[in-house]
Amino acid sequence: MRYFLLGMAALGLSAQDLDIALNNGRVIDPESGLDGVRSVGVKAGKIAQISNRPLKAKTVIDTTGLVISPGFIDLHSHGQTPENYQYKARDGVTTALEMEIGVFPVAQWYGERKGKALVNYGATVSHPIARMKVLGDTGSWLPRDKAIATIATPEQHAATLENLRIGMREGGLGVGFGIGYVPGCNQQEIMEAFAAAAEFKRPGFVHTRDGRQKMVESLQEVIANSAVTGAPVHVVHIQASSGRFVDTALKMVDNARAHGIDVTMEAYPYTAGQTQIESSIFDPGWQQRLEADYNDLVWVKTGERLTKETFDKYRKIGGSIVTFTNKDEYVDKAIAHPAIMIASDGMIYDGQGHPRGAGTYARILAVYVRDRKVLTLKDAIAKMSLLPAKRLEAYTPAMRNKGRIKIGADADIAVFDAAKVQDKATYTRPNLYSEGIPHVLVNGVFAVRDGRIVEGVLPGQPVLAK
Ligand SMILES: [Zn+2]
Repeated sequence: MRYFLLGMAALGLSAQDLDIALNNGRVIDPESGLDGVRSVGVKAGKIAQISNRPLKAKTVIDTTGLVISPGFIDLHSHGQTPENYQYKARDGVTTALEMEIGVFPVAQWYGERKGKALVNYGATVSHPIARMKVLGDTGSWLPRDKAIATIATPEQHAATLENLRIGMREGGLGVGFGIGYVPGCNQQEIMEAFAAAAEFKRPGFVHTRDGRQKMVESLQEVIANSAVTGAPVHVVHIQASSGRFVDTALKMVDNARAHGIDVTMEAYPYTAGQTQIESSIFDPGWQQRLEADYNDLVWVKTGERLTKETFDKYRKIGGSIVTFTNKDEYVDKAIAHPAIMIASDGMIYDGQGHPRGAGTYARILAVYVRDRKVLTLKDAIAKMSLLPAKRLEAYTPAMRNKGRIKIGADADIAVFDAAKVQDKATYTRPNLYSEGIPHVLVNGVFAVRDGRIVEGVLPGQPVLAK
């Protein structure tokens, strides 16, 4: 069969039939282990040829000296606007998924993006938002009043679970949990939401319940939920949730995996986080829970460090803050762990936010691969493309054709210069595009060409569960 298909490709696809050829690049495909100079031919949105010789095509790009990698798949991309998709594309990301908090209603969210996205997009059904709708919370994204501390009545709990099922019937990619944002949810409520995910054989993507001093209990809760319901679990930003307890967290996950529990993790390559100041994360006692103080917090709108006075003022208004609460040594340990995927947790609105929204993937390649050698290039690419695809592919057919450079795969491709790739976004200037990623293809269409966003193209497709 294999030889037949290759023969058909040679006979049926004349060179001129290719839409795009990326010639003489260094192709790295973590699944097959390929790391060698090849030319990649693209036709009708798919990878149609991988050749030892240069290919002819309508558009030919010389990629000599550049890496041809599967496009990056961001499992934790809160920013789902045209502005954010441009930052993503310039950072080599071809699929941006909102998995941690998720969305609700699901079909409406996908409908709003259909035909309007630069990169592929998708989301889980949101447990916090499903609960907010039932309890009448007034928050626009994270809960801000009625859904935070309230214990749901049996009827409200049942209605929340039904919302989750509706979202999964509409193609939601699992259940998104922000347990730390809804402390009124007891263990039973969360467990039964996991059970709803298990009904559809889809995972829970989880921000765990509590701060670092309760990291063990918080991680035990979600691993136990996976064990008793059968729903796989993916723990987001483990480096931020565990901090100086990162060794314990990684060991717990290793052991759970060794005992057959389907648990995975992700991390982002920064020592600061970002969240909403009005959220329950900053309810009284946050200094102990986060092991942080006012001066570790930055108000995004002005860039100022907070004091007790400004903290109280801004908490009443509500808005985004960056939290400097981690250390490189803990982040490095998480990034280097074999089961860790890279995901940004990013969002940038009107140029404001955390640099991870624009620079996560270039930063891994520049700082963690090239400068500090925490990762090999191939392992980094796997963590940014193949591993996220494999996390979803059991229940998301589209992901079987992503995260790979192989014939028949979607032509989601990042072309970068390993010597020059660099994140530029900083805490004070998060709105700077990454550099050294000259070409990015999404479904065989240039989203980025010669280092610039291509205007007027919207090749992103929805990623849906089935
Ligand atoms: Zn989170």
